[in-house]
Formats: sequence, C-alpha cells, structure tokens
Amino acid sequence: MTTIEPPGASRRTVRVPVAALALAAWLAPLSAIAQDKGTLNPQPLAPLAKPDDPATPAKELFARKPAPAPLQARTIGFYSKGCLAGAVALPINGPTWQVMRLSRNRNWGHPKLIEFLERLSAQAPKTGWHGLLVGDISQPRGGPMLTGHASHQVGLDADIWLTPMPTRELTRGEREEMSATMVVAEDRRDVDPHVWTPAHTAVIRAAAKDPDVARIFVNAAIKKALCREAGNDRRWLGKVRPWWGHDYHFHVRINCPADSPDCAPQPPPEADDGCGKDLDYWFTEAVLHPRPSPVPAKPKPPLKMADLPAACRQVLLAP
Ligand SMILES: [Zn+2]
Repeated sequence: MTTIEPPGASRRTVRVPVAALALAAWLAPLSAIAQDKGTLNPQPLAPLAKPDDPATPAKELFARKPAPAPLQARTIGFYSKGCLAGAVALPINGPTWQVMRLSRNRNWGHPKLIEFLERLSAQAPKTGWHGLLVGDISQPRGGPMLTGHASHQVGLDADIWLTPMPTRELTRGEREEMSATMVVAEDRRDVDPHVWTPAHTAVIRAAAKDPDVARIFVNAAIKKALCREAGNDRRWLGKVRPWWGHDYHFHVRINCPADSPDCAPQPPPEADDGCGKDLDYWFTEAVLHPRPSPVPAKPKPPLKMADLPAACRQVLLAP
C-alpha cells in the first residue's frame, strides 16, 4: 500500500523539520489512496530503452527483476538506500499468516526477517489474532521501488496489516482488492474505539519485544493508545515510533543481520518510552492540520545506481 515511509535514521532528539511539515501537507491528499489495490492480471513492465544510462532511476532497474540474486544472503546499505542479495520469499500461506497483494511481488526479505515474521505470526493466536496479514516486504533484489516506500530496500522492513487474519484462506482476488482497517479516529487525535482492540496492542507489543526488532513505525494516534495501554511494562515502547501514514498497518524493521557487514544500522532505541513531549508534538495544530506550503516542495530526484552501495550493481546484474 502506498505510504510515506520513515527515512530511517530519524532520531527522537531531532524535531521534525519544516520540510517535513511541507511533506505532511503534500501527504494529505495521499491518504485517500493509502490503500492501493493490486490486480489479478499483472502486466510485465516494458523493457527500458537505455538500461545502462547512468541517469536511469535505480527503481526502474530493480522493479524489472522478478527473482532474487542467487548469491549468499546479505543486506547491503541502509534501509532507504540499498539492496538485498539471496532474498527468500515469505510463503504466501502459512499456518498463521497470509501474504497480501501478491501481484506486487514484494514478499521477499533477508532470511532473518522471514524467520522473524514466522516467529511473530506463531505468537499471533496468543495475542487474540488468528494470524498476520503481511503487506509489502521488499522486491526480489530489494532496492528502491516504483511505488510506495522510501525504505523496504534491504529486506529488513515489513508492513503488517492492522486487520486480523480471517480464519479462512483469502482468495487471490481478496488479497488484491481487500482494504486494511483504518484504526485512527477521524479527528486523528486517537485510535477509533470502535475498531481498536486489546489484540492490536498485544500484537505490536509482541513484535517490539522481539530482540531482532530495531524499530516499529505507527501513526502517532496508535502510539498514544499503546502508551495508555502498556501498563508498567514499558521498555518495548521506545522501539515504537510515530510516523506519518501507518494508520492501516504497522511497519517492523529488524536489526542488521550478523551475515551482512555492509548493512548500515539504525541508532539503538533510547531508553525512554517516547510517551511524553515528543509524542505531544504530533498532536499540535501544525502537524494535525499543516498549512499547504505556498511553493510546492520540489520532489527529490530518484536514486540512481551511483547513489547506492557499489555492491548493489552485482546484485542487479547477477543472472
Ligand atoms: Zn512499511
């Protein structure tokens, strides 16, 4: 689904800059299409006229690789600037998970992330969910994507729907067409009490407590609910960060795997639970109702191959 993804290294100590507010204003119309649907009949992308042109956006190249690079598994670069060798797919059905939007072919990750998803999904029934509906992970070779995310490039990020998995197997059509559940209230100041359940808190808590997890990104209204419902056990809250979007799904990011010396890590989470002033900031007028900037922000130029770690070229060119 289309969401603006956290750029990655955002530290709690850094206030969201003015440019981000302009971004938020620009995002407002985007929330209407936050639920991109897939198709039962995906068409292959047309070949590029000049794939070797250094000006070609890297996303155009990585989007045209339907299978992983047959190399040893390793993450190369940073969550929002990198690629992935030796990816494995999360099977589209497991005992306690189902993969959504199969037409996107984004159920690829580093083996450590796939292990984590299977581990979390096995705990889901204990949290009150039958299982997980898994959205985008990464492309078969990672890298930037044509639509949706700034991160998810190195096979260590996964989106999990805030909709509990039904007890039956979803059809292919449902996996493309079904919408995830909006859990944020209309005024954006809290979760929607008609939709939010203790199981939502339980599944996010279970994810945050996994030692492999580095960060979880959720809408600020969701973080507010988690802060309220956490009780005395609050250490895990520090990993859960507010970010724009993320009102239909939560985004889990795991740590750099030991087999990947070229993986650039996130700074470790702070000890603080992040439920104080930093959270309040997200509910200020300027953030809730940003004024559109008079001059539209210039879109960032897309990443080229030269912007990515050099090893990503081998990943791209592997047979
Ligand atoms: Zn995500």
